[in-house]
Amino acid sequence: MKNSAPHSLHTLEQHDDFIVRHNGPGEADVQTMLSAIGLESLDELVQKTVPENILLDEPLALESACSEQDALSRLKEMAADNTVATSYIGMGYYDTVVPPVILRNVLENPGWYTAYTPYQPEISQGRLEALLNYQQMVTDLTGMDIANASLLDEATAAAEAMALCKRSNRLKTNAFFVDNAVHPQTLDVLKTRAHYFGYELIIGDAASEMKNHEVFGVLVQYPGTTGDVCDIEPLIEQAHEQKALVCVATDLMSLLLLKAPGEMGADVVLGSAQRFGVPMGFGGPHAAFFAVRDKFKRTMPGRLIGVSVDNKGDTALRMALQTREQHIRRDKATSNICTAQALLANMASFYAVYHGPVRLKQIAQRINRMTSVVATALKQKGVELLNDTWFDTLTLKLGEQRNEIYQSALASGINLRLLDDDKVGLSFDERKTRADLILLLEVLLGEDHSVDIEALDSECVAEGITGIPAAYVRDTDYLTHEVFNSYHSETEMLRYLKRLENKDFSLTHGMIPLGSCTMKLNATSEMLPVTWPEFADIHPFAPKDQTVGYRRMIAELEAYLVEVTGYDEISMQPNSGAQGEYAGLVAISRYHESRGEGHRNVCLIPSSAHGTNPASAAMVSLKVVIVECDENGNVDIEDFRAKAELHADNLSSVMITYPSTHGVFEEAVVELCEITHQYGGQVYMDGANMNAQVGLCKPGKFGSDVSHLNLHKTFCIPHGGGGPGMGPIGVKSHLAPFLSSHVVSPVDDKVEGNSAVSAAPYGSAAILPISWVYIKQMGAEGMKRATELAILNANYMKQRLSDHYPVLFQGANGCVAHECIIDIRPLKASSGISEEDIAKRLMDYGFHAPTMSFPVAGTLMIEPTESESLAELDRFCDAMIEIKQEILKVESGEWPADDNPLVNAPHTLKDLTSQWDHPYTQVQAVFPKGILHGSKYWPTVSRVDNVFGDRNLVCACPSIDSYR
Ligand SMILES: *Cc1c(COP(=O)(O)O)cnc(C)c1O
Repeated sequence: MKNSAPHSLHTLEQHDDFIVRHNGPGEADVQTMLSAIGLESLDELVQKTVPENILLDEPLALESACSEQDALSRLKEMAADNTVATSYIGMGYYDTVVPPVILRNVLENPGWYTAYTPYQPEISQGRLEALLNYQQMVTDLTGMDIANASLLDEATAAAEAMALCKRSNRLKTNAFFVDNAVHPQTLDVLKTRAHYFGYELIIGDAASEMKNHEVFGVLVQYPGTTGDVCDIEPLIEQAHEQKALVCVATDLMSLLLLKAPGEMGADVVLGSAQRFGVPMGFGGPHAAFFAVRDKFKRTMPGRLIGVSVDNKGDTALRMALQTREQHIRRDKATSNICTAQALLANMASFYAVYHGPVRLKQIAQRINRMTSVVATALKQKGVELLNDTWFDTLTLKLGEQRNEIYQSALASGINLRLLDDDKVGLSFDERKTRADLILLLEVLLGEDHSVDIEALDSECVAEGITGIPAAYVRDTDYLTHEVFNSYHSETEMLRYLKRLENKDFSLTHGMIPLGSCTMKLNATSEMLPVTWPEFADIHPFAPKDQTVGYRRMIAELEAYLVEVTGYDEISMQPNSGAQGEYAGLVAISRYHESRGEGHRNVCLIPSSAHGTNPASAAMVSLKVVIVECDENGNVDIEDFRAKAELHADNLSSVMITYPSTHGVFEEAVVELCEITHQYGGQVYMDGANMNAQVGLCKPGKFGSDVSHLNLHKTFCIPHGGGGPGMGPIGVKSHLAPFLSSHVVSPVDDKVEGNSAVSAAPYGSAAILPISWVYIKQMGAEGMKRATELAILNANYMKQRLSDHYPVLFQGANGCVAHECIIDIRPLKASSGISEEDIAKRLMDYGFHAPTMSFPVAGTLMIEPTESESLAELDRFCDAMIEIKQEILKVESGEWPADDNPLVNAPHTLKDLTSQWDHPYTQVQAVFPKGILHGSKYWPTVSRVDNVFGDRNLVCACPSIDSYR
């Protein structure tokens, strides 16, 4: 505002404030970048990039942007329509105390939540350590040999366990037994998975009925859903006699007091780690755990952290056994798990680190004592208890009074679990107090109940009333490792958390230009609502009139996503992109079945597809047929047509990514969709690259039938170091009747009875406010602008890098979409330097590497997103150009091929302080051109040895000594 004339209030109020904050490049930068790529305007860029036949000619019908304050106050109003009640519902979701030191320094801390999945271990040692602690905690408490670092939720973990049993069992049978005592939502997800895997589920009382069936595995729950500490040991023996494998769903809190399933011979032990300090959040996000016997470790799904060494021989952590994962094994992978709740697993492990075994045991004992006190009181008063063993859950038979009592509980702010007929369930947790118990007893027994809690407490102590059968009392140690016995003061804990955080590279340090992963800004205003109690403290199965605000927010977000995508309906259930793929393919299969075409079982997938695509197709028993790509990176349309025609009778679907994983808006996309429909197939469009489309084109309008949207990419949910995430799917109306509902809490607008894909009706509902706030604050104009700038940033980088590295694949007019791929193969041939060396060298320059070798081996895929400024783009390009000069020195022989700053990267403080005998200087090593001393990021370990780690697989915490 150069002119000094007075301005009106309207001018002084910056209504587009947030848009300017979210986007990196300012107005002047945009002009600079446009002229660098030889274009006049953003419109021209868009016209050259997006095919005309799909380009929208109207703006999105969304409200215009509102300020951060306005968005939050509107959301606060909605949140006020939720009721935070005292929950006794249980069923795998319990109130918990998030230790404030963890709440503020992990869950609310961008140093933790903006980190990426730890594929680059040298700059991820902090969260790798936290995840290793998680594995150690789960291994200890379950009594198993080895645990992974988290799955999406308990129900999908149970489904993964079922699949593992089938993979690992040589019996020919396709039948799997599920015990009656399993949570109903777990059973519901098992039904979906079993149906599409082609397994038969036998549901009944395992103790008496399993022996009558030949089954490859059995799932029991311990303690059972209605509270019993069931006698599972004979059952495990019986199953093993039948050569069936045994999966035990359990609760970590109970295992602090109960005999571990691993001691009884279980093959797989799984459950949710939610109550270890992660809020209920109306269903998530939370981490599930999964532990197996040693002999199953190579077929275990999910992320596994292992101990290895770096090139100096020092201990270093990394992700182990990657070769069993979808990005390598594709449709033969052990699962489609990619994003999987890392942040929440970290929180749960920190909860155990902070409390330690002694305090944790006290917490469990206190929960158990409260349960025992109430059980004793109810028995004395003649209330019929249906379980005579318990850890924290009681089932009461209330007869005709049931409804009246349930209602009076509601009136007192108490949620009971409603069970069939005349029963209710009660689960206790660490948030409950004596006052809560008194109120509960008033509701159950009447106000004049005259129960003396202190007297009953003494009675339980004196008589040893615990509800735990003597044979099931735990007598083995757990959490004996130093890490669980060192940080019990807040000062020590704070420093431990900070020490780990400081080892990790996150968006707080610099750009994370990962192709396909859209590591954009996770704005603080978007994150604030996640921990509001009105969102955090809601049970997923709370009565609907207590979740009005939540469901309105979700309905609004669904409406925004419908508008953005051009689909007709959204399902919010899937907890990750890969789960969205699964949910979408299930909807397609249900659709075909409904038309009497259930035999359609062929899925066409281009060779460039993300590994989760074929892995998800395999989970729906689809036969994957690969379609080739041409030299420009486009799907080979003739090959596509020929294969669609060849499989016309059995074509179920095609899975394509748009813009393609090659970073190009394929011109033929409309034709691809038409060919698919012509042969009776459905189009699944992987929406991971939606960031290039929002406001410019709509997949639902140019021929696609269903897509998932990675809300943790395009819509600002942070990656959390490998999850949380949300992968809702949008579908055209003909698929809408086939979206999942929920057996316990049916989803608004969905067909009741459609079995679920996730444990909770709306997946990880607690992080949906992030995307809601983002869209509110951007409005139609901001969303479009973000897309244009994402494309501009990518094309600018492509322009600057193309003089130094060949750029693979561009669209018809020489433009890329929102990411670009540079080819390292020619340089590798001439110098021996690989894409991995460049990735590691970038760490010395203060960057996270781009995506390595996907979708093409020997390349780097760069996605800057709209949130990175011109200055940061230039800093990255300068580093890449400087690295090219370094490579030339290797090529010319100035530096030996086996001793240069690239193959030795990354460099650490240890390099500075140890004997130096390399042909380049220490300054060149750690302060390469452009790095300022004050802003240097230090990797904490040198290049990690992957082969050593897989050969010598160790997935437990090493002793502290090994770090010295
Ligand atoms: C990220 C991604 C996925 C998988 O999403 P997750 O949330 O990690 O399961 C699928 N396809 C593509 C192209 C992706 O980039």
